[in-house]
Amino acid sequence: MITLTELVLASHNAGKLKELQAMLGDAVRLRSVAEFSAVEPEETGLSFVENAILKARSAARISGLPALADDSGLAVDFLGGAPGIYSARYAGAQGDAANNAKLLDALKDVPDAQRGAQFVCALALVRHADDPLPILCEGLWQGRILREARGTQGFGYDPLFWVPERDCSSAELTPFDKNQLSHRARALLLLRQRLGLSCPS
Ligand code: IMP
Repeated sequence: MITLTELVLASHNAGKLKELQAMLGDAVRLRSVAEFSAVEPEETGLSFVENAILKARSAARISGLPALADDSGLAVDFLGGAPGIYSARYAGAQGDAANNAKLLDALKDVPDAQRGAQFVCALALVRHADDPLPILCEGLWQGRILREARGTQGFGYDPLFWVPERDCSSAELTPFDKNQLSHRARALLLLRQRLGLSCPS
């Protein structure tokens, strides 16, 4: 087991830093890579895990600190895992509404039984830029793609993602409930276990 008290997060997103810091608890202090550089690496990997490793290595190189990166998105079974690592820009750089409209269109003739999908979150932690043994934790959240949007919470594909265990869409869950069930929560739980951290209160 490795002991870490300070980590750089390979993201310029202040909201993500706050969310991950809350899930990690006080034992590890997260700093943003934006403190060290304004440039973000190109995400050239073909999988969530590859992109998370690439971002973590880049942040460790820039900061000289151990680094954590996450990469997430939606993988739809009928579409062979698309939009996958391209989730944020599935319909080009036009935002969530355009992405959701494109997904509904791609599945318009697909029966319910074939609308299975999962949200995926890959976390990669490296102790230094050339670490040959990154800690990798993956969280999957299984659901189904609805035929129309439901709910107003969350972001991205949440209004189209049916959560079978709660009989509602992900955008109908409270933020608290989503944080108990989501792909990110599952990946974080594994990471906390790997780091020997107890659950934050
Ligand atoms: P990122 O990891 O924040 O870059 O997320 C990539 C993209 O995946 C987002 O822009 C969303 O389109 C989608 N995504 C990832 N996590 C979620 C989620 O929890 N709800 C809805 N969409 C998500």
